[in-house]
Amino acid sequence: MTRVFSGIQPTGHLTLGNYLGAMRRWAETDQHRADALFCVVDLHALTVDHDPARVRRLSRQTATLMLAAGLDPEVCTVFLQSHVDEHTRLSYLLECVASDGEMRRMIQYKEKSARERERGGSVRLSLLTYPVLMAADILAYGAQEVPVGDDQVQHVELTRDLAVRFNQRYGYTFVVPKATRPGIAARVMNLQNPTSKMGKSDDSGLGVVYLLDEPDTVRKKIMRAVTDSGRDVEYDRETRPGLANLLEILAACTGGDPEVLAGAYESYGALKKDTAEAVVEVLRPVQARHRELCADPSSVEGVLRDGADKARAIARPVVDSACRAIGL
Ligand code: ADP
Repeated sequence: MTRVFSGIQPTGHLTLGNYLGAMRRWAETDQHRADALFCVVDLHALTVDHDPARVRRLSRQTATLMLAAGLDPEVCTVFLQSHVDEHTRLSYLLECVASDGEMRRMIQYKEKSARERERGGSVRLSLLTYPVLMAADILAYGAQEVPVGDDQVQHVELTRDLAVRFNQRYGYTFVVPKATRPGIAARVMNLQNPTSKMGKSDDSGLGVVYLLDEPDTVRKKIMRAVTDSGRDVEYDRETRPGLANLLEILAACTGGDPEVLAGAYESYGALKKDTAEAVVEVLRPVQARHRELCADPSSVEGVLRDGADKARAIARPVVDSACRAIGL
């Protein structure tokens, strides 16, 4: 059976981008067709300036939302990265095959380190080595597939390179994984700034739809989305990024095609209104389930404990064999 692994960082409130780009696929298809593990990657949240209590709270909230989005602990494994020591054990071994140059070339490192420097902070070494820990997250489980949005594809490519290099130098140890992307909404853009992605750590409240936004807040954000001064509705990511983003969100929520949908609208207002309603409908069941789960937080803790036990049982032999292969 195919093994699938993917993760999500507890660095902020989850967004529509996280949902359409990753989580929805995990719940609707991946968990049913594969032996799937989904992880709240809390160690990654420590790579930038953070408040410890907030990380702890967001880790639980993120796990709760993953379950609310439809992950079923009876058919897949949901757990916290820090509960399974094998991630950091393997990360160190992979640091011994990775080079600093390839780390510095990672787009996300360039962007995030520039942001940290702008804020006057120093850049943590863990931000540079983050992709190695992510490679360890994936390789420890022998995952063949990693369902992610576009922004993570480069890190999965690096993971492949590290796996191949390790195997060549030390003998076959790791399955070489590949990224799988959604057909549409692989990169949901910020509604106020449609040339950058909708990210959960963005502070621009109006540009980001959060999974727990009230319906009226969702409507307000989408109705105020930046488009352009044109009048006709056409789908062109290069020249009309704001409009294309709305069409992709609508298509992803309704199962339509952005190009075809563009032909069905004569005004931006009507498109925004339908997009807002489609998003509200997609979020409704997730929010309802989230409310139920919040009433019983100990059940989520139980899921995470059991998930960590299952995950550890898979990862330990893989990491033990990597230790032996590299000379320990
Ligand atoms: P974030 O950028 O929100 O911190 P994470 O690194 O935690 O995201 O990513 C969790 C998953 O959500 C990844 O598979 C990532 O590719 C996907 N994702 C994040 N933002 C978006 C977006 N705007 N559009 C599509 N997918 C996204």
